[in-house]
Parts: sequence; C-alpha cells; structure tokens
Amino acid sequence: MSIDAYSWIERSLETIHRADWYRSVKAIESRPGSTVILEGQELINFASNDYLGLAGEQRLIDAAIAATQKFGTGTTGSRLLTGHRHLHRELELAIAHLKQTEDAIVFSSGYLANLGTISALVGRRDLIISDRYNHSSLKTGAKVSGATILEYQHNDSEYLREILQQNRHQYRKTLIITDSIFSMDGDLCCLPELLEIATEFNCMLLVDEAHATGILGKTGAGCVEYFGCTGQPLIQMGTLSKALGSLGGYVAGSASLIDFLRNRSPSWIYTTGLTPADTAAALEAVKIIQQQPQRRAQLWQNINKLKQLLQEHQGKTTSRDNFLESWSSFHSPIFCVHLPNATTALKVGQQLKAEGIFAPAIRPPTVSTSRIRITLMATHKLHHLQKLVDVLFSILTNEEVG
Ligand code: PMP
Repeated sequence: MSIDAYSWIERSLETIHRADWYRSVKAIESRPGSTVILEGQELINFASNDYLGLAGEQRLIDAAIAATQKFGTGTTGSRLLTGHRHLHRELELAIAHLKQTEDAIVFSSGYLANLGTISALVGRRDLIISDRYNHSSLKTGAKVSGATILEYQHNDSEYLREILQQNRHQYRKTLIITDSIFSMDGDLCCLPELLEIATEFNCMLLVDEAHATGILGKTGAGCVEYFGCTGQPLIQMGTLSKALGSLGGYVAGSASLIDFLRNRSPSWIYTTGLTPADTAAALEAVKIIQQQPQRRAQLWQNINKLKQLLQEHQGKTTSRDNFLESWSSFHSPIFCVHLPNATTALKVGQQLKAEGIFAPAIRPPTVSTSRIRITLMATHKLHHLQKLVDVLFSILTNEEVG
C-alpha cells in the first residue's frame, strides 16, 4: 500500500493550523471542583459542566469504589449479553422516576444516546427538523439516520412551523430535535411552542436535556419540568456526565419507546455496558439531586449573583457595550462573552488564565462565532464570582482587546 494514501492527513492538519482551528488538550491535575490545578497553576474553574459539584463528591466516589470492588472494572460485554447488572436497571428506574416517565434506558455516553436514538427512530423515508444551534451529537445522529434534514433558525418556532407546512406531507415520520439548554449559548428552547407544533403536525419531538438535568425544574428533572410539560408525549434525552458528575447518557419516555430502543438502537446493542463505577456514581447523583435541592438552589443563587455583579459593573462602564448586551439575560449556568473574532477570544482566554481564571475561548468551527464560555457551579464562592467580574471587565475595557 502506498504511504502517499495518508499524506492528505498532514496537509489537512496544516490547513487546520493555518485557519487557527488547531486544538490541543491540557490535563487537569486535581479533583474536579470550583478550583482546579492546570499546568501547575491553581485556577478558578469556570469551564466545567460539573454544575452541582458532584464529580468530586465523596458519596459518588464511595459508590464507584464499592461497585468496582463488587463487580470489577468492566462489564465485559453488551447489555444484551454479559454487560447487564441490576445496577443498570436501578439507575434506569431512578431516572424514569426523576423524569416521571414510564421507563428509561442508559447508554454509555450522551453522544451515543443521541446517535442511537435518532437513527433508530427515523430513516431514509423520514424527515428530521433540527435547531441550527443543536449539539453535534444531535446533528451527527441525524446524519447517521439517513433521513432528510432541514434546519430552522435558532429557537424560531414560526420558522419551524413554515418548514412543516411546506414539507410535512411528503414524509412518513417526522422528528423535531432540539437542545433544551443550548450548550454553547446557555439559552432555553421554547419547549411549549415546540410541543404544540409537534402535536399539530403529528411529529415526534426529542429534547436534549444534557445541560438541564439536575439544574432546571422543582425536582431537577430538567427543562421539561421547568416548563410544566411533564407527562407530555416527548422523547427526553440527557447525559450522566454533567450535573450528575459521572459518565453515560439516558433516554426517558414511554415504556414502548424504551423497549423499542433496547431492540433497535445500534449504539446501545453493539457497545459494552456502562462500567459499574460510572453506573453507581450516576445512581448516587440522581439520589443526591432529589435529596439535596439546596445544591440546585445554591447554583441558582450563584447565577443570580453573577447577573447582579455584571449589571453593577455594566452600569459603571461606558465603553464596550457590544460585549455587554447579552449579559443580563442568561437563564442557565452557561453564559457567553461574545467577541469579534477567534484571535481576540483566544487572547481574552489567555489573559483570564494569567489572572487565575479558567474560562477558555470557544471558536469556529465548534461554534459559529467566537466567545468565552463561562459555566457556573453550585460550589463557586462569592469571591470567585467577584474576581471573575473584576478581571473580565478590566480585560474587556482594555483598548487592546478588539
Ligand atoms: N448533548 C449536549 C447538548 C451536550 O452538550 C453533550 C456534551 N457536551 C452531549 C449531548 C453529549 O453528552 P456526553 O458528554 O455524555 O457524550
């Protein structure tokens, strides 16, 4: 075989470098928390999805150790063969209870849950309608399914309605897919309108609760609970890797949907079952979010405090209004500082790091516009938030940025 067959890879890497799209990994050298050690430096962590601070929580660690001692490190096979433990079922039932659905199914990651669910539900003769800002796992799941994909403008339910009016009749089944809290912008989908439209046009609706599970709703069930849509005909998907501090994904819905996925979802059938440690840790996390609503309350206190601090600073600042516009209206632990280009975003990210704050730049092609993405945790202290705002404003009001 000619070595030349691979030469395109290096050329491709060069293109990635030239476009400033090259990414490298950096190791966190400590337990997850509101502060972390990165490259030997202690940083306040505004980059994690561990919204409730559970990934370093002793109860989860103990549960993971106990499960590993009892069942070993790996599950050794697919859930349908040797990979199933009672622990998996306990977790699935706990998720179904949290979500108030008939049943739930646990996948080995959230990404695999989206891939396997979408591709099981629709195929070549079907239509998927997708929010433009949806997470990569929803978009990839849509592509893998082979269905026709149409995108609607972000959160624009009227646009969605128009697409359906023009196209719905040509397809056998239609699936609408959306993030609930959008992962890179932190805003919420307009779920009640989406549900109404799905019902009107006889469509399935899949809502990705990855960033909302444990965060939104009275019991932490997510955006569906927050909007009072519990019990509606919906397919709810989520991850065990963000507020739940573990690894894995889930789908919650009707008993027949879950039974169908167990029989038809390739990324569930043909992959090894979630490890005992991840399963036990996630189960403990589901219990904690129900037993300790004060964690969620503390996170929301931090979100509201940050909003207040930003507004106070904004009042004192006369320049850079373009950076400040979006700051008063975030509804989740995720908020963004939009910046004019990737170079500026990278520079601001580096300056934040030099000042002891970890909030890296997110830039194309991951997102359409460059930004600093800041995520809050229940375990952040007031002085963490104050430092973030002070440093951010001092960087953004510096004339060299922009
Ligand atoms: N959906 C959304 C909205 C996400 O943000 C993510 C993870 N970033 C996923 C799905 C995938 O979840 P996991 O990390 O468990 O694969």
